[in-house]
Amino acid sequence: MKYDMLLLRFGELTLKGRNRNRFENTVLKHVKSVLRPFPAATIQKEYGRLYIVINGEDSESMIKELKKVFGLYSVSPVIVCPSELDAIVETSTSFLKQMPLKDGTTFKVSARRVWKKFPYSSHEMNHLVGAPLLQEFEQLKISMKDPELELRIEIRETGTYIFCEVIPAAGGFPRGSNGKAMLLLSGGIDSPVAGYSAMRRGLEVEAVHFYSYPFTSRKAKEKVMELAKVLSGYSGRIKIHLVPFTEIQTSFTTVGQDNLIITLMRRSMLRIATMLAEREGALAIVTGDSLGQVASQTLPSMNVIGRATELPLLRPLVTMDKNEIMDIAKQIGTYDLSILPYEDCCTLFVPKSPTTNPNLHVVERIEASLENLPTMLEDAVRRTESVVLTPRSVIETDRDEETIQEDWF
Ligand code: ATP
Ligand code: MG
Repeated sequence: MKYDMLLLRFGELTLKGRNRNRFENTVLKHVKSVLRPFPAATIQKEYGRLYIVINGEDSESMIKELKKVFGLYSVSPVIVCPSELDAIVETSTSFLKQMPLKDGTTFKVSARRVWKKFPYSSHEMNHLVGAPLLQEFEQLKISMKDPELELRIEIRETGTYIFCEVIPAAGGFPRGSNGKAMLLLSGGIDSPVAGYSAMRRGLEVEAVHFYSYPFTSRKAKEKVMELAKVLSGYSGRIKIHLVPFTEIQTSFTTVGQDNLIITLMRRSMLRIATMLAEREGALAIVTGDSLGQVASQTLPSMNVIGRATELPLLRPLVTMDKNEIMDIAKQIGTYDLSILPYEDCCTLFVPKSPTTNPNLHVVERIEASLENLPTMLEDAVRRTESVVLTPRSVIETDRDEETIQEDWF
């Protein structure tokens, strides 16, 4: 079908006044950047809506990109005709001719007269357009309540918009409108979904990933960067901090309390993320924790781990089931990457029985006994590489990093 325009609707209608303007302008800016590859398309703004005049660009590709814009709730492809009764009936008829209509498709016309000088009321238009359509298309059955096909007609002074599809878009708050947070990004299924959820709520997200050469491979690091790149498809760009974690991790294996290793590692991750947050001006840390999923995600574990930072810890997935999280991962395009089999630094050191109930005093005593720990944390921050990724980045980590993982075990 050849459309003339896309109608985009904003969400969160409870916002008023200045906030609403700020909200809409942020979305407008994001839409403009998404439409850069479609130079002929033009944008018109109206209260609560945006219109994109397609001007011969590929509307399907445009819709695919627009569906990722946070703060947009839905997109409707629209056909435009002159605001005259005959033209409206004729255009509606040819519009429906291109629709696959099954026998008995329930149907109604919803006209809205925005231009009050148009000679027929909205109600009259429902009949004036509906009646000839029912005559022309025998498959259609009128139904006022929940019809399968609702033909919407908006009559304006400059033209009449005809459409029936309302395609849901990403929703949420506009890109970066609620401040910045650091996302602990592993290669698993959960943390990319947590990152997406945080972004959808208007947070600008910078990713922090901990790797442990030579125990984890170059491939594992590349995989995480690929995941960050998918997330950048929702924000335009994402900064990722790659933190060398080998020394810190190894130091915990020397204390003789293997069941606490994960607790100790997580606390150090939070401390490093907090230092990076301070440097980058972020005000929270986001993780992919989901209550009860693994030993480090019981309430007692979360409690002891969470005390390592004073920043708010946001856990968007905390009450979600694994299958709900997996569904979102598939929807946002991270699932297939996440299930690639490369090792994560945590899985490598997982003891046989990680504790589900760590003791804060014991943990603090161990940390205090590792005199070098504060220096190692600072050193890791100093050696952190930071890279900005966009959806078009080509990812290749340094090729000289050898992995001796196989030899080690
Ligand atoms: P995920 O699927 O996100 O890996 P998970 O259910 O496998 O989560 P863990 O591996 O125990 O659980 O990790 C819990 C959270 O800790 C992750 O969601 C992530 O936020 C953070 N995390 C774990 N490993 C790393 C890492 N190597 N780098 C950065 N963050 C990490
Ligand atoms: Mg994991």
